[in-house]
Amino acid sequence: MKREGADGGPTCNLCGGGVFADMPFHYVWEGQRFDGVQCRDCRLITLSPLPTDAQLQRLYGEDYFAGKLHGLDRLGVSYESWADGQAARARAFLRGELLRRRPGAARLLEIGAAMGHFLAAARDEGLEVAGVEISAAAARRAREKFGLDLLCANIEQVDQPAWRGRWDIVYAGDLFEHLRDPAGVLRHVHELLAPGGLFAINLPGTFNLLSTRLATPLLQLAGRSRRLPEAPYHLYEYTTATVGRLFAGRFGRVEVVNLATPPWRLNLKSRSPAYLGKLALHALNWPLTGLTGRYGDRMQVYGWKD
Ligand SMILES: [Zn+2]
Repeated sequence: MKREGADGGPTCNLCGGGVFADMPFHYVWEGQRFDGVQCRDCRLITLSPLPTDAQLQRLYGEDYFAGKLHGLDRLGVSYESWADGQAARARAFLRGELLRRRPGAARLLEIGAAMGHFLAAARDEGLEVAGVEISAAAARRAREKFGLDLLCANIEQVDQPAWRGRWDIVYAGDLFEHLRDPAGVLRHVHELLAPGGLFAINLPGTFNLLSTRLATPLLQLAGRSRRLPEAPYHLYEYTTATVGRLFAGRFGRVEVVNLATPPWRLNLKSRSPAYLGKLALHALNWPLTGLTGRYGDRMQVYGWKD
């Protein structure tokens, strides 16, 4: 089915296009259906309709980080205990990836800071830090646990004049796929960065995987749409091409890194044949990403402000 932007349908956040093809997945939440769709021009994948701001407020209410966080729920651990176990990885990422790409950085802003685990690690490295977090419960926990005062707000609605041009590094982990207006947030972050500053994100790349790329047109041909069990948290699904183009629209220099989760660390959501098939394909995809640097199920994207 085609949806025309001019008829009140979605307009592509990346290219402004208004013609979308149905993707073979959808969500049902609050009695409403959200269809996966793909821009015909630039291939950006989004939802039609997007949840409203009021719905997003409900999605990230008190219990978002309280144990049922999507992706961790079936591992049987709370977000907090999972993040507690990531301290060494957080330090390694900060030193090995962020400070390597922006040597001498003194100030770091995190958007989507959750309970402040990463910011606390950055503060311990001697950086001046600040963070934005949409969930009031997570922001409260950051204060109790780490003494961090996060700005509790949706980054899409934040206006902090004192932050403009201030930050050497702005970091967002697992945030970009949750934004209603990623191009607008990129514009905003670009203003917040100091000259030479680095914007770094990491994000999932389910539709960047070779297995998903192969399966999608087959499911489209069969006219099948799978209902995904989660609430519509992911408003966009990115590939190397679409997220790279989004960054290139704002930053002069861009780097996209593809990573693949080792098959034994995959968070399998069930033992159904579909998921076991996915595991088998992933076992082939994983070495392919190592060899080619493409088709990762995780991506890191870096943009440098001139
Ligand atoms: Zn587009």
